[in-house]
Amino acid sequence: MNTNGLLNELKKESQLNGFSFDDIGDDHLYTGLETPMKPDAFVISDEEKKEKIAILFKEIMDVMGLDLTDDSLKGTPKRVAKMYIEEIFSGLNPNNKPKIALFDNKYQYNQMLVEKNITFYSNCEHHFVPIIGKAHIAYISSGKVIGLSKLNRIVQYYAKRPQVQERLTNQIAEELKNSLQTEDVAVIIDAKHLCVSSRGIKDDTSATVTSYYGGEFNSPSKINELLNYLKD
Ligand SMILES: [Zn+2]
Repeated sequence: MNTNGLLNELKKESQLNGFSFDDIGDDHLYTGLETPMKPDAFVISDEEKKEKIAILFKEIMDVMGLDLTDDSLKGTPKRVAKMYIEEIFSGLNPNNKPKIALFDNKYQYNQMLVEKNITFYSNCEHHFVPIIGKAHIAYISSGKVIGLSKLNRIVQYYAKRPQVQERLTNQIAEELKNSLQTEDVAVIIDAKHLCVSSRGIKDDTSATVTSYYGGEFNSPSKINELLNYLKD
């Protein structure tokens, strides 16, 4: 292919529905429910990943001109690698998915159950800076219930990925529907994105709210009831 052809190919590749990939990142648009993963994402072990990331992160720091022989900086590449794989991005690995056990709804409780103010920390997939927020979850039992702490764990698992808030909301909702075997679930997320407050537009006061209402929750009275419970 000649140079012009190559340039045209590159141009085509950097566009999606008329948006450049830079625009997509800056406007925090997202492209699908599933976190985009390579088919060979888990061919190498977590240990190998940590080693590779440490080397690459050291390179980034070096390019920025930081002195890696300084005692304070020396350990940073390894620390970052460990943090990425074991903590803040551990939700990329399906092995870390919480095991959900279902119990019979012995109390015959048939109203909505709300677990509110679940604090989570995630990271924006476009800038790799924190998203800090609260998730509120509700469901109406179809005859089965799960332990309350599992609701929390489901939120944390999907938060520990590079994320966009809309996908996080929908991934949690899908997981709840599958686990609880019902469509009657609701998820509301209220979060601050550091890529909006600490850089770019530098708006420190705005927050982003997203929601998912499935099944029974698609009625104004149910939504009202839920929002009432969420009032402080
Ligand atoms: Zn961002």
